[in-house]
Amino acid sequence: VAYAEANPERKLASSAPVLTSAEVDNKKKKVVVLGTGWAGTSFLRNLKNPDYEVHVISPRNYFAFTPLLPSVTCGTVEARSIVEPIRNIARKKTVDVQFSEAACLKIDAVNQKIYCRSNVENNLNGQEEFVVDYDYLIVAVGANVNTFNTPGVVENCHFLKEVEDAQKIRRTVIDCFERASLPAVSEEERREILHFAIVGGGPTGVEFAAALHDFVNEDLVKLYPGVKDLVKITLLEAGDHILNMFDKRITAFAEEKFQRDGINVKTGSMVVKVTEKEIFTKELKNGGEVSTIPYGMALWSTGVGTRPFIRDFMSQVGQANRRVLATDEWLRVEGCDKVYAIGDCATINQRKVMEDIAAIFRKADKDNSGTLTVEEYKAVINDICERYPQVQVYLKSQQMKNMVDLLKETPDVSKGSAELNIEDFKTALSKVDSQMKNLPATAQVAAQQGVYLAKCFNRMEDCEKNPEGPLRFRGEGRHRFRPFRYKHLGQFAPLGGEQTAAQLPGDWVSIGHSSQWLWYSVYTSKQVSWRNRALVVTDWVRRFIWGRDSSR
Ligand code: FAD
Ligand code: MG
Ligand code: MG
Ligand code: MG
Ligand code: MG
Repeated sequence: VAYAEANPERKLASSAPVLTSAEVDNKKKKVVVLGTGWAGTSFLRNLKNPDYEVHVISPRNYFAFTPLLPSVTCGTVEARSIVEPIRNIARKKTVDVQFSEAACLKIDAVNQKIYCRSNVENNLNGQEEFVVDYDYLIVAVGANVNTFNTPGVVENCHFLKEVEDAQKIRRTVIDCFERASLPAVSEEERREILHFAIVGGGPTGVEFAAALHDFVNEDLVKLYPGVKDLVKITLLEAGDHILNMFDKRITAFAEEKFQRDGINVKTGSMVVKVTEKEIFTKELKNGGEVSTIPYGMALWSTGVGTRPFIRDFMSQVGQANRRVLATDEWLRVEGCDKVYAIGDCATINQRKVMEDIAAIFRKADKDNSGTLTVEEYKAVINDICERYPQVQVYLKSQQMKNMVDLLKETPDVSKGSAELNIEDFKTALSKVDSQMKNLPATAQVAAQQGVYLAKCFNRMEDCEKNPEGPLRFRGEGRHRFRPFRYKHLGQFAPLGGEQTAAQLPGDWVSIGHSSQWLWYSVYTSKQVSWRNRALVVTDWVRRFIWGRDSSR
């Protein structure tokens, strides 16, 4: 009331009752965001709708720029340079944001509550547990390291997921060099201590191997001249090639470069057990021979798994027999209202054309004749391609221009009849679903999902008024929300020695020093704040001039 009196125009302009601020607050819907990684932070940074009250809950009160974690393991970049306090990000928002440093233990989707526990080390009175209500829940908790239950991995291997992991690796690497330099150590033992084993030939394992090789050859050889020739780096990969998600040219270049650098790449061997001093591997071919490899430090980086409390949640919402939490293409958790999941913790359950084929046919057959004319399907082609992106991918793989070409391949049409019945239609589209692929667990996907979901929340009112159906085509309903579509902007694989492989959209591959500069500039621009940007660039310059710091 006081506000209205102080602003007479406003009082005149609106005959609606004036709410006190407390009442206004009560009307705000509460959005709880779990996680401050790529997905959660990108959602938070893009949310603009002041009608929400946001509560962010995460066991770490900062965002970490994970693509630079391998650089932190060798001191090329300092840990502080790649993290940004979440409260700094929240402070700049016009939306109300509250943060609690705690882990979610359980989601109760029926009563719209989550159960949390504060971090142990921060609380002198021990752990504090609390319950939070939500109107909307956004699950962005990322993934676990997947050890495939291999014995001894958790106890003996390093992981590289969090900033603490990278710092621990840095100390351990230097420790190995110091231990190997002690006077009473035999040469045999020195070799073992200086054997660095990396399990998993994906981007993280490869990048770490390259970073470690650079650190050893550019800095440590000068400081530990007595032991420099005893260092060995081994990369173990179960598949036939390293970097198998990249273009073959990149894989080949990386394998050759590693060979030249003296990095030992062992493919086709699976790690079956790790003890304190040895790794047991089994050949996947040639009779499954088991061998043991003594090591000084081991890094385990073989992909991601589902966190236990997400497993519980999955069985609660009827997804018990799935491997990963599934959402629809609007990123809503399947089988559960008001809960969204983004980033590495979730996967999108894309619709199959074959499941909707009858409905698509009916939609296309405007005159209900039971057959489709060329004109009829031309009219819906674009909508089908938009709704089912696998159709586009399939057409591209078959080098066809559009669906008319595809339909012309069906026997009846090629025989000269211009109309298709539903069976022909099914035959024509029978192979398109095979082109569906899950999105990779990358920062790029997580960040784009965060942006998409924030945009949906910015326009939530429209969204609720026009809930989309599985088969709503463009043009029906003015405010229909398009499903999430991933836009791949390319991918880097730094290979050491100031060389990087880049795979850009349209299968454009570039490898070498120029892509290293592209890498520097892209990763500078992607930093979440100017402070991070300045720190990271300063670290790189410092490294160019004085080399990396080798104190532990
Ligand atoms: P995360 O970023 O892992 O964030 C999860 C968040 O949830 C964290 O804040 C965590 O503390 C929090 N959390 C965990 N448990 C709970 C709980 N119980 N309750 C509440 N919060 C919780 N991707 C690329 O695209 N390009 C790259 O170059 C690249 N390089 C990488 C290098 C390394 C070394 C690693 C490890 C990953 C790299 N990735 C890269 C992958 C990328 O980091 C992930 O895909 C991305 O972090 C996924 O984002 P997310 O938000 O789902 O999960
Ligand atoms: Mg996150
Ligand atoms: Mg992250
Ligand atoms: Mg995902
Ligand atoms: Mg017809």
